[in-house]
Amino acid sequence: MSQYGIGTKCVQAGYTPENGGPRQIPIIQSTTFKYDTSEDMGKLFDLEAPGYFYSRLQNPTCDHVAAKIAAMEGGTAGMLTSSGQAANFFAIFNLCECGGHIVASSTIYGGTYNLIKVTLAKMGIESTFVAPDASDEELEAAFRPQTKAVFGESIANPALTVLDLEKFAAAAHRHHVPLIVDNTFPTPVNLRPIEWGADIVTHSTTKYMDGHGAAVGGAIVDSGNFDWMANAEKFPGLTTPDDSYHGIVYAQKFGQGGAFITKATSQLMRDFGCVQSPQNAFYLNMGLESLHVRMARHVENGLAVAQYLEKHPAVEKVHYPHLPSDPGYALAEKYLPNGGCGVVSFELSGGRKAAESFLKRLKLAAIETHVADARTCCLNPATSTHRQMNDEELERAGVPAGLVRMSCGLEDKEDLIADLREALG
Ligand SMILES: *Cc1c(COP(=O)(O)O)cnc(C)c1O
Repeated sequence: MSQYGIGTKCVQAGYTPENGGPRQIPIIQSTTFKYDTSEDMGKLFDLEAPGYFYSRLQNPTCDHVAAKIAAMEGGTAGMLTSSGQAANFFAIFNLCECGGHIVASSTIYGGTYNLIKVTLAKMGIESTFVAPDASDEELEAAFRPQTKAVFGESIANPALTVLDLEKFAAAAHRHHVPLIVDNTFPTPVNLRPIEWGADIVTHSTTKYMDGHGAAVGGAIVDSGNFDWMANAEKFPGLTTPDDSYHGIVYAQKFGQGGAFITKATSQLMRDFGCVQSPQNAFYLNMGLESLHVRMARHVENGLAVAQYLEKHPAVEKVHYPHLPSDPGYALAEKYLPNGGCGVVSFELSGGRKAAESFLKRLKLAAIETHVADARTCCLNPATSTHRQMNDEELERAGVPAGLVRMSCGLEDKEDLIADLREALG
């Protein structure tokens, strides 16, 4: 599959039917799998033979879809999780335990910010946040000897800053740790972070990948590029025997390309159980089959709406990296030549109050805690997704109180603009 273009991978990667087999990925709606002998099953438990025994660990439907996403990102292995939150938690916790530290971009999704700042701190994992436009010196200063990973979003939700992937990858690699990139917004159709130095890629598949507001889900992809054994003392979980798995050393037994996902599956999925259902994986795959076609339309609508808003007198500021006036324009040109996504953020001149009454007047665009759906939706993050942040934290995260996040769907752009014209008055 690696020789094919991204559109072909969206449609066909991850599953090849046998002669006479079902054309669509079968939904294996079964918790368990049957074996003839205990010896057969024992080999699976020892990770000596590939195969399925219990759907909390692995399920064939989910594995086909994970393999498709891994192929789309250009990675060596992938796994599905129950949500994007679970994907980011697993990606970090697979590298980091009590006493560890991570460096993260400050403009990230509110849920992930909270996960890192509050919940991981309760588990003894500390963090330092850096502005996405931090200088090399500022980035350097964020690292500690205990740092285990760098985390950022390729296009931040909802600040829409574009991560300078090469800069963040170089800093991570100078300190011998991997760069984890949440690639939810551009999807691998518009950006493949591994090509720019990212080591681990995560997704909330709930967004564009599903694309129809049907199923919550997440995914993790390993590039296979990070040399765990060369940095063995930093990552003992991957490079020393796992007592909970008969002394397996993941990086030795499964190699550089397989260790990370095998450990995340056999330890974290075993113990935390954040599994995606086969039914949801089937829906996800239906979304993936048209992702490349849909992303082009989301981008077209997003740009048209951003250009319209930029000229409107009631709008103070528009954040859309593909507008030449946006501070992220040069990075967008570099990393996202085919466009980024359909999400546009903007600040109304009247602040929080103006945002609230504007949202009420919209007819076509609905108020939803969601983005990246076929249907256009809007949200005021300060009163919803980012409610836990104070005004200063909101400013730092690039989400001022009067900001509106608009996710342009797949409707006709003329209708979206007419709706905005009415609501802006
Ligand atoms: C939505 C989102 C998440 C969380 O994903 P869920 O599927 O809602 O758990 C993480 N990162 C980004 C960038 C998101 O947009």
